[in-house]
Amino acid sequence: MEALQYTRIGAEPELVDIPTPEPGPGQVLLRVTAAGICHSDTFIMSLPTERYKYGLPLTLGHEAAGEVAALGAGVDSITVGTNVVVYGPWGCGLCWHCSQGMENYCSRAAELGIRPPGLGAPGALAEYMIVDSARHLVPIGDLDPVTTVPLTDAGLTPYHAIKRSLPKLRAGSTAVVIGSGGLGHVAIQLLRYLTPARVLALDVSEDKLKFARSIGAHHAVLSDTHAAEEVRKITGPAGAALVLDFVGLQPTLDLATSVAGVGSDVTIIGVGDGRSAAEVGFFRGAYETNVSIPYWGARHELIELIELAHHGALNIAVERFGLEDSVEAYRRLAAGTLEGRAVIVP
Ligand code: NAD
Ligand code: ZN
Ligand code: ZN
Repeated sequence: MEALQYTRIGAEPELVDIPTPEPGPGQVLLRVTAAGICHSDTFIMSLPTERYKYGLPLTLGHEAAGEVAALGAGVDSITVGTNVVVYGPWGCGLCWHCSQGMENYCSRAAELGIRPPGLGAPGALAEYMIVDSARHLVPIGDLDPVTTVPLTDAGLTPYHAIKRSLPKLRAGSTAVVIGSGGLGHVAIQLLRYLTPARVLALDVSEDKLKFARSIGAHHAVLSDTHAAEEVRKITGPAGAALVLDFVGLQPTLDLATSVAGVGSDVTIIGVGDGRSAAEVGFFRGAYETNVSIPYWGARHELIELIELAHHGALNIAVERFGLEDSVEAYRRLAAGTLEGRAVIVP
């Protein structure tokens, strides 16, 4: 089968021909129907050898949708032919966090060598992929896999982040979204659907701001050196109740902490350059600001998101590419010229 693999540190990923995998005991083989690409892939492919920990060659793709093609021995909770999406942050299933559905915070994954598909285990940018357990599948019924697959990460990550802050997002409050790309454009819509808050989006080009307004942002502001001032004109002295930073570079982290109001949440989702940090201290930032760094989301939250999709709550913007064009899709992602999510359709 064809697969897109990252094979050499610093090089672009390449299309290779590899054997089609067979499901072992407890595993499920999916025929991939859609796979989203994420800025995190670009980040890991930018890492030098000493900081790269995902194995080589790596079949990319941690947002996966597929049709169940074959079942390994002992799998009886799903049937061949079912259309599913994949819950990506695999855990052991047994520890306390996993028992809560929060496999994203599995306390034993590292020790057991359990890695998410596309971030250690073979991913979804291929004709077929192995899912380690039927527990990690969510049936999607008649939803379109192409517009549904981004929910597994570009949807799940902001959904988890926003749910934590719902009590703060009352009428009259402001939620600030920094970066209106793959994750940010879903965040804007989730904020509008789930809360009465005013939604203020930031990005670096007029096109992106226009896009942010078109999917529901009440305000869209350029993320430049005047951004904090512009944001404060809109929030007033109360500041923002929630800042979601989908970029995570020093200028956006500084913006996030400077516009956050008393008792607010500053939620850092963007990995940035992997080295930037939010500065908080007694005379730095508003009182009772909570800064957090959530990672992905919980299993039950993906099930909830798929329900929201069935309700027609979300309008996921996608640009489609064939597997043979996935290198081009990564170039567009790195250049910041995509609108919404790039989805590979093998
Ligand atoms: P993306 O490239 O689709 O979106 C990023 C957006 O930010 C783009 O629209 C870009 O124009 C904009 N941007 C760039 N610099 C900016 C700036 N200075 N100010 C405002 N906007 C700016 O990326 P994505 O796939 O949505 O991922 C976003 C980030 O989230 C990445 O860093 C990714 O690694 C990270 N991520 C984290 C998690 C997690 O669990 N914490 C999960 C998925 C992705
Ligand atoms: Zn991702
Ligand atoms: Zn666990």
